[in-house]
Amino acid sequence: MTIVTTTDLSMLNLAQSIATAAYIVAALLFILALSGLSKQETARRGVVYGITGMTIALVATVVLVVANGALVPDDVTAYLGAALLVGAVVIGGAIGLWRARVVEMTGMPELIALLHSFVGLAAVLVGWNGALYADGIAPELVGIHHAEVFIGVFIGAVTFTGSIVAFLKLSGRMSSKPLMLPGKNVLNVGALILFVAMTVWYVITPELWLLIVVTALALALGWHLVASIGGGDMPVVVSMLNSYSGWAAAAAGFLLNNDLLIVTGALVGSSGAYLSYIMCKAMNRSFLSVIAGGFGIEAPRSDAEEEGEIHETDAASVAELLRDATSVIITPGYGMAVAQAQYPVADLTRRLREKGVEVRFGIHPVAGRLPGHMNVLLAEAKVPYDIVLELDEINGDFADTDVVLVIGANDTVNPAAAEDPGSPIAGMPVLHVWEARNVVVFKRSMASGYAGVQNPLFFRENTQMLFGDAKQRVDDILAAL
Ligand code: NDP
Repeated sequence: MTIVTTTDLSMLNLAQSIATAAYIVAALLFILALSGLSKQETARRGVVYGITGMTIALVATVVLVVANGALVPDDVTAYLGAALLVGAVVIGGAIGLWRARVVEMTGMPELIALLHSFVGLAAVLVGWNGALYADGIAPELVGIHHAEVFIGVFIGAVTFTGSIVAFLKLSGRMSSKPLMLPGKNVLNVGALILFVAMTVWYVITPELWLLIVVTALALALGWHLVASIGGGDMPVVVSMLNSYSGWAAAAAGFLLNNDLLIVTGALVGSSGAYLSYIMCKAMNRSFLSVIAGGFGIEAPRSDAEEEGEIHETDAASVAELLRDATSVIITPGYGMAVAQAQYPVADLTRRLREKGVEVRFGIHPVAGRLPGHMNVLLAEAKVPYDIVLELDEINGDFADTDVVLVIGANDTVNPAAAEDPGSPIAGMPVLHVWEARNVVVFKRSMASGYAGVQNPLFFRENTQMLFGDAKQRVDDILAAL
């Protein structure tokens, strides 16, 4: 039999106090990280705060587990916890490092979606563990514990399948078209009502079959919620899943009695929810409608597919156009990320600015496949921040601009959003590139963008199409200049 002495207990208390203090420091560092990440100039510092906070949190957790193990040295299961923890950190850390090193910028959104699914799965497992091993809970807290289990499993399972569908859609393994089940809103709302009723039932009589049913219900709901959201609204969904993953982590924190997990989960949950709100505003969408999967639907077109003549150009002619220009706006999109064209684009910017041409960038809030995607790429290529402008800041200036270079953007410069109420992306604010004197569109074919919508810009009189890989074409222009 193991005898726990007073000295052992005071050592454990000390370890717990140190861990609590470390968790507070880590939580503060996470808040500083979030505030640092809100501006490009301070983003690097924000990342350093985040890494430091996470390192402190991990070390404190290891110390706590080891101190718990030392309390009962004869009990091998006590060491098992520490061994499993170290094993998990080493394996998880190695896989994380490898993925982070090999992932392309274009693969980031789907990687993030996949990581969210892990948080969801972890919350489901923690919830189930809490349900199966509920010994030692004070009788007055048992009801709260059951509610925590049920809610944690529900949020976790919705996050898990929702993130997997987002991963499949973003990586092109599944069509970005919305799934249109009959009465889909009734299905979603019905599932939520059922969940609330079952939570009450489970708190009163915690039977295992209820947990099995709610897990299956939440898995199906997560799948359906994201599957029924169409292409153009995926950015909001990705940030919403980010928010859900935070709440799932917070729910796991309540079950594990871990304050840091609760604080961190709440930070991720609330910042993700706020980001979703900002993105909805930027895209002129109602938050509730996106959650209910009401957008991105192929609406009947109000006019016939706009078709007609396109005007094809070549690199030498574009170089000529740029040579005569006094003002140029570059609007990059997902294609710039695919082509890795940010470096020659930065070179072109430098060359034109040296010749006295005013060059600015117009960044749409959902350009690319990740919030801030274009800003990251341009910062990577050392484009000065002060010439990189937001949609609102630059939209009034296109009419006074000589040349707009649309580099691999499509949905974000689609005039149908502003002019055709029957378009599936109607009402979404877009960059008014067509108002400029000359527009050059860099893309490889006449294919549509992520939302799968035809773009009338390509057929306008003042638009010229420069076909080919964006990086290759910008290099050609640089050579011609
Ligand atoms: P789009 O997806 O609308 O269009 C990108 C265009 O780039 C395509 O039409 C493609 O045409 C072209 N392209 C691809 N590869 C290359 C290449 N190597 N060289 C040149 N062109 C290339 O991009 P936008 O940035 O305009 O819009 C983003 C879309 O993604 C929006 O619908 C948004 O809602 C959605 N989205 C955004 C997220 C975010 O958080 N930012 C997240 C998820 C979705 P072609 O094949 O002919 O070359």
